[in-house]
Amino acid sequence: MSKVLTNKLLGIFGGTFDPIHNGHLNPVIEAAKEIGINQVILIPCHIPPHKEQPSTAPKLRLKMVELACEHNPLFSVDDRELKKNSHSYTIETLKSLRADYPEKSLCFFMGSDAFSKLNSWHKWRELMDYAHIIVCQRDSRNVVLSAEIEGLLKKFRTKNNRELLDKNHGYIFEAATSELEVSSTDVRDKIKSGETWAQHVPESVYNFITTHRLYQ
Ligand code: ATP
Repeated sequence: MSKVLTNKLLGIFGGTFDPIHNGHLNPVIEAAKEIGINQVILIPCHIPPHKEQPSTAPKLRLKMVELACEHNPLFSVDDRELKKNSHSYTIETLKSLRADYPEKSLCFFMGSDAFSKLNSWHKWRELMDYAHIIVCQRDSRNVVLSAEIEGLLKKFRTKNNRELLDKNHGYIFEAATSELEVSSTDVRDKIKSGETWAQHVPESVYNFITTHRLYQ
């Protein structure tokens, strides 16, 4: 696809990022390349609806996200969820992004584990009215899809990345990304137990965590 066309695609990737790790970054980089997306906004969430409140202060999680992507022009960081002192519902974030970028095809990235639980998200059926969903592979052997999610896939799946340009929302694209077995929980646990963990995060994030003695 030409650059002019791909500029219409805007990637969005949200997470707790406590801390951000290579399992967040690498699949999104691969999927963006596969599809032809050249801009992805990373959005750290404030209060995740499905998890406990992260123990790491929002400004530290934000800083790590900024460090992780400072040398990669694919990424930029958006702190709109951190500015709201309430639950970070993706539907609200997508509505505000749609207002900011009325012309863009919004491509919302998620790991396949998160996608398999999409039907537990607030107003989940409405998400497709605001964005496409790009699914990256994560622990795919163990991901079980409910009938509701199978139905969603049947209705909205496309295997053709060009279709993501035809409409600015409403398709699901399953990217052929490599699987990276790492989670923020793993990184936090390894730091606590003194195991090696540097290989799971960008060097700048490693330096920040060690300097500030996070997750000890
Ligand atoms: P935690 O261990 O604290 O629950 P996490 O590592 O699962 O965190 P989140 O910040 O909750 O990370 O995840 C945000 C998004 O990143 C989700 O869509 C999730 O599926 C995706 N993701 C996280 N780790 C991976 C991975 N290793 N491979 C692919 N996607 C991932």
